Amino acid sequence: MSGFEYANAPESKAIADIATSYGLFIGGKFVEPKKGKSFNTINPANEEILSKVGYADKLDIDLAVKSARSAFTKVWSKMPAKERGKYLYRIARILQERAREFAVVETLDNGKPIRESRDTDIPLAAAHFFYHAGWADKLDYAGLGSKPKPVGVVGQIIPWNFPLLMLAWKIAPALAAGNTVVLKPAETTPLTALLFAQVCQQAGLPDGVVNIVTGDGITGAALVNHSDINKIAFTGSTEVGKAIARSISNTKKSATLELGGKAANLVFDDAAIDEAVEGIVNGIFFNQGHVCCAGSRLLVQENVADEVLEKLQKRMSLIRVGDPMDKNTDLGAINSAEQLKRIHEISNTGDAEGANRWSPDCKLPSKGFWYPPTIFTGVSQSHRIARDEIFGPVLSVLSFRTPAEGIEKANNTMYGLSAGVWSDKGSKILWAAKQLKAGVIWSNTFNKFDPASPFGGYKESGWGREGGRHGLAGYLTSQVKESK
Ligand code: ADP
Repeated sequence: MSGFEYANAPESKAIADIATSYGLFIGGKFVEPKKGKSFNTINPANEEILSKVGYADKLDIDLAVKSARSAFTKVWSKMPAKERGKYLYRIARILQERAREFAVVETLDNGKPIRESRDTDIPLAAAHFFYHAGWADKLDYAGLGSKPKPVGVVGQIIPWNFPLLMLAWKIAPALAAGNTVVLKPAETTPLTALLFAQVCQQAGLPDGVVNIVTGDGITGAALVNHSDINKIAFTGSTEVGKAIARSISNTKKSATLELGGKAANLVFDDAAIDEAVEGIVNGIFFNQGHVCCAGSRLLVQENVADEVLEKLQKRMSLIRVGDPMDKNTDLGAINSAEQLKRIHEISNTGDAEGANRWSPDCKLPSKGFWYPPTIFTGVSQSHRIARDEIFGPVLSVLSFRTPAEGIEKANNTMYGLSAGVWSDKGSKILWAAKQLKAGVIWSNTFNKFDPASPFGGYKESGWGREGGRHGLAGYLTSQVKESK
């Protein structure tokens, strides 16, 4: 490369006070798991052990649910809504005050660039608590029926791609609506949830309103199957979402499921190409592509395809891959060995099925889990890389001739979480947005999130919405049903 190179700009780890071990957060205290089992959480950028966390089984889940039930009936559901709101404000303020510490811990545990945890994950998590704090005492006026009531004790299961942010998406609306929660973070990224438990203590949140149990899928299943849970809120894979739907089908439990995606990013020939290229890069390489709404299928109009591809490759050559703690890093580590294996497996089918792979030259660190930014051209709709969610920095490029064909291809998926439209013409954008079967549609931008905006999918991308008034509705009963 010619010109100036970036000097290293590592963020300091000194602010992160990670304990050597953590218990489960039940009833406002850290307690040891009943059977004393634990597991390690590692830094995926160098495979070093960060800490040891408790492994919760059925007995621990039962204690956590009991503690949430008691807090619900005795304290939280009885508390004046205005008072509940104050706790949420307090949590939001503490998250802001401790933002740097949270960003560092998130990056160490997840592998995402510090720039992203600092500028996206943590500020958005705080924003979710601020937004829902405002709702706590206004629920009667939210158009959700007269005097809507909390559903009760909610089991919440979250993935590893945005650990603290997904926690905020789940806990903030649940608490604002008067519910209490038992939350299970993903097994590879438990640390910011445990730090959040300390924030709950710091905020003086009544004991048992928030309980955090660490563990794996078996722990998650025990939570789903506990008889005293009123609702499950899950974000994760479509496969596990389906299993959860099956296990609660004979019960009175309600559920919101935020599952997978294979979003189309549609570039029409009248789009501002340079901006579209930025949006394509953001759409698939943000957070290493570990994003359920990632723009993982680029659909580009044929007459501008060469130009888009040339500019995209040039832009990709500037992506800096490496140490997530470096403030200049664009693409960090893949979250786990297991996820890296999955990315390899699905991407390799692209080669086998005849698509053309391209990645810029980049040196990957020798330790840790890494995958270079990658695009496949010559992809057809039947290829596995055009159908399955890869959840990594891998883009499948397809083309279309007419706008109608573009829409048809975009909708040819079992998912329907998000889509992007790039065009200079407002009328074309509105026309496309109307035809696209996706819960969120961005025009001339991508991956924009706001707590006030509902997020969720169609088809196998899930049930229900999170965020905004629509998300709140999922945590309340006796509301007027929303029409979609
Ligand atoms: P991913 O592909 O993102 O790892 P998963 O759906 O496997 O997605 O995991 C998302 C969350 O669901 C994690 O917290 C995981 O521990 C949990 N989980 C996995 N299997 C189950 C299950 N059978 N029941 C409940 N939760 C589960």
